[in-house]
Amino acid sequence: MKVFSDYLSERYLFHLHTFYTDGKLSVEDHFRFCAENNVKTLMFTEHVRKELKYSFKDFAEEIKECGKKYPDVNYLIGAEAKVLTGGGLDIPEEILSDISLIAFACHGFPDDANLWFDSFSKLFEADRWKNKYRVYVHPGRFLQKRNWLEEHTSLLEKLIHKAIAEGVYVEQNKREMLPPSSIILPVDKSIVGFDIHRKEDFQKVLTYFQGK
Ligand SMILES: [Zn+2]
Ligand SMILES: [Zn+2]
Repeated sequence: MKVFSDYLSERYLFHLHTFYTDGKLSVEDHFRFCAENNVKTLMFTEHVRKELKYSFKDFAEEIKECGKKYPDVNYLIGAEAKVLTGGGLDIPEEILSDISLIAFACHGFPDDANLWFDSFSKLFEADRWKNKYRVYVHPGRFLQKRNWLEEHTSLLEKLIHKAIAEGVYVEQNKREMLPPSSIILPVDKSIVGFDIHRKEDFQKVLTYFQGK
């Protein structure tokens, strides 16, 4: 297994969705964008939950087929799954052999900042997921949704440090602008994500590439 940073030293596309869930783009749309814009690695992070409403096998197959059509684009098959209270992950067992990347997210959680902090800490520590590339995505969304960001910035900062200490990469989420700019992420432990859902989002990615 390559170290994750090897993928990040060249142009990559991370955090994206497709027709399989709430995206308005096909698997091929992502490949085409990457092929046309010299993106070396495409990292799929489709939403999953224990009760899946689509066939992850079909999704993975489609990626592999498309990969043959666009041989210059490397790809990683991954999933975005939500943290559960207590530190578990809402992910179906049967997809684990298909994925090499997990995006840890907070989507719906009780209004309890300590429980949020503890649950993510346990998730980051868990040996179970350490054979995957792991990323903490849209960090602070839980706080932002509740208007708690200001009050709990230091807690978020502590959680981000915890992630890094456990070898979990932290997303610089360009869609929600998270974490807030007051928290500086170390460049070598962070990954830029756009949470791409539709065609227009590609424009933001291009603007970002051009500014680099
Ligand atoms: Zn998400
Ligand atoms: Zn997402």
